Amino acid sequence: MSLLQKLDAARDFQDQLGQLGVNAIGATIDVTGSATEGKIEGKRVILAGTNNYLGLTFDPACIEAAAQAVRTHGTGTTGSRLANGTYAGHAALERELSAFLGTRSAIAFTTGYVANVGAISTLAGPGDVIMLDADSHASIYEGAKLSGAEIYRFRHNDPADLDKRLRRLGDRCARTLVIVESLYSMLGDVAPLDQFCEVVKRHGAFLLLDDAHSFGIMGETGRGLAEALGIEDEIDFVTGTFSKSLGSVGGFFASRKHDVAPLRSQIRAYMFTASSTPSVIASTRAALKRVAQGQALRSQLWKNCQRVHEGLTSLGFKLGAAPSPVIASLMDSPEQAAAAWQALLDAGVYVNLVVPPGAPKNLSLLRCSLSAAHTDEQVEQIIEGYAAVAQRLFDQPRAAASAYA
Ligand code: PMP
Repeated sequence: MSLLQKLDAARDFQDQLGQLGVNAIGATIDVTGSATEGKIEGKRVILAGTNNYLGLTFDPACIEAAAQAVRTHGTGTTGSRLANGTYAGHAALERELSAFLGTRSAIAFTTGYVANVGAISTLAGPGDVIMLDADSHASIYEGAKLSGAEIYRFRHNDPADLDKRLRRLGDRCARTLVIVESLYSMLGDVAPLDQFCEVVKRHGAFLLLDDAHSFGIMGETGRGLAEALGIEDEIDFVTGTFSKSLGSVGGFFASRKHDVAPLRSQIRAYMFTASSTPSVIASTRAALKRVAQGQALRSQLWKNCQRVHEGLTSLGFKLGAAPSPVIASLMDSPEQAAAAWQALLDAGVYVNLVVPPGAPKNLSLLRCSLSAAHTDEQVEQIIEGYAAVAQRLFDQPRAAASAYA
């Protein structure tokens, strides 16, 4: 196969998606007037597919901080952290993150993807073992591959399967990094993190938690699932993103147990890429303050999640998990999912269309992600949009069963 034949294969794949008759992959949000509304193809829609869990992309304090920073420090750093790209704001953000999470240190990255690739590929190396949850994010897989460690997958959210595999490793557990997420972003299901901690500790392995999706939205002060379960001290390493509840872009790597700061001079994905722009760092710092004092935002978010979950269940949708800010409706086929996605857009609600191979187990689904910024009225409009879909798609009401709850 010539190198360029890959382009043909990619075009065939795009054509297959095109045959679904919708432009979900290339859907462009032309205008965003707020955290929850925008225009797609000239039509006003409620944004319910953005992972903007706390709605902070339009928080006045975050916007003001970003605007001031761009005026004071310019539009970009034009360099990597180790060369000319460490500004006072980067160091302050790392200190503030560390203080917030109670970690010994924290390293900020340009994206969450890069944080995972950099942290994982540096922590583990040839001769080590990485055990990862089968439904792990692509960045976890990439980091694992790049590390040169031996890679094993355990069944998704299954501590017993992890236990069995670690037992087989014996002494090698001391060289094993286990990786799990908190809230999984495709189906909205939550990891049994306390059980994973117990298994990892018993075998003397190390645990890295990718907390991209529960950071900011779980736990009394928003420190995530581990805070909610009271087990933060049990986690060896944590990675996360600024692109969900913090409403900007970037990522981090931190630890309560170990000082990760010296790894700055080893992590290539930190050393050889430009650092975040000053405006991004400034809005992230402002957002972190809002997260720490964000109980009211979190209550509103979870209230919205409950309401949409109830509404969709009573309409007969099969949902991916118990209520969470990610509510996945399982569809029978990619074609049905595409038709449902278009019907929702026609009804003024934008969600994400996920078709194979995007979701675990080759599922086709509509992924709705909720925000604290959705008003009660918008929440009802989202449910009404799904009601229009249910009417178009289901000849008769389906059993209101939850496949994974
Ligand atoms: N980890 C998980 C679990 C994610 O869902 C994502 C983003 N969807 C990332 C890492 C990467 O984060 P970022 O968008 O900041 O690159």
